[in-house]
Amino acid sequence: MNRSLVLEAIKAAGQISRARVAEQVGLTKPTVSAIVDALLHEGVLRELGPGATAALGGRRPILLEFDSSSEYVVGVGVGVRRTAIVVANGRGVEVARTTFATPRSSPATALAKIASRTAATIAEAGVDADLVVGTGVVVPGLVDADQSTCLLAPNLGWRDVPVRELVSRQLGGQIFVHNTSQAAAVAESVEGAAVGVGDVVLLYASHGVGAGILADRRVFHGFRGLAGEIGHCVVPGASEPCRCGKRGCVETLASGPALARAGARAVEVGLATSIRPGARGKVTSEAVSAAAHAGDLVALQILADAGRVLGIAASWLVNVVNPAAVVVAGGLAEIGPPLLDPLEASLREHVLPQAASGLLVRRSALGQDAAVRGAVLLARQNTESYYRVVFRG
Ligand SMILES: [Zn+2]
Repeated sequence: MNRSLVLEAIKAAGQISRARVAEQVGLTKPTVSAIVDALLHEGVLRELGPGATAALGGRRPILLEFDSSSEYVVGVGVGVRRTAIVVANGRGVEVARTTFATPRSSPATALAKIASRTAATIAEAGVDADLVVGTGVVVPGLVDADQSTCLLAPNLGWRDVPVRELVSRQLGGQIFVHNTSQAAAVAESVEGAAVGVGDVVLLYASHGVGAGILADRRVFHGFRGLAGEIGHCVVPGASEPCRCGKRGCVETLASGPALARAGARAVEVGLATSIRPGARGKVTSEAVSAAAHAGDLVALQILADAGRVLGIAASWLVNVVNPAAVVVAGGLAEIGPPLLDPLEASLREHVLPQAASGLLVRRSALGQDAAVRGAVLLARQNTESYYRVVFRG
């Protein structure tokens, strides 16, 4: 346990002397020296030579650095359409990436394919699989993080899928399973639109709608990991059936499929619009977005209506959580101002004025990459916190 304290202090500092590590972690210098010697011998650390400043009258201390090629983490972002796999070194820097169409087969077969693509990506990067300490798997659905099970992912047709069990047949190291919104929230707060903000709500609007809540930089999971499922809160007066089994949920009014349905209805009833069905004869959310960007008033109204519903949903989250920043992510955020401007206006209109004061509302900076970067970062965070839990327990 002392070893992980020492290692974490060195990772956090970048470059640091043995004496400073001892001060920071509260261990004696001989204890720190013995641990550092072992870590140097194992190739986890390296010595950089004397630092620039010396203690008064003493020698200049030798600086130590974590060797970022001594361990790796992997992020697997399973999307409704595409899956991305990123292999990253111990500092979280990407060293290899693969993307491919998400397999459309039974959950067990799909996860076996994803696991074998992951193993292949690790091998192609020239990384020794034994050095992979953790893999984060992010899925678009309800996830029980403790059990590492996907409880429900309607867009993939998954229900009660033991994700960790299935991928661990082919992958070593620890495996963690999270949902897309939670992972995207972590990524945006570490390296995206809300860097340095501790209390963040990320509203993820794509095929479905969800939210990731960070309280003091950590994901707030709730009892079964379902915290943030704002997409399945009911909008008063709405009655469209939802894939969760209820009616009138937020995502029946404001999601990719909801935009497509609204566009198709506008065409059907003969409104004056440039929205056109695509190659398969169906109106898509992309067709609605394209028409809006070309100035089509019907399409602009559809996006504004969806934005307003998302703004109301965000106002519920803001009043409950009181975050410093709301980040809007997912495919709907990429539509830009025709959806985001009405969203922010509606959010500010419906939230307590005191909670709106100083509140940042931002569009995702990482875009499509947020989920897989979150998977990498959560794998790093979780492998570190594992030691902390054991240490305290
Ligand atoms: Zn629902």
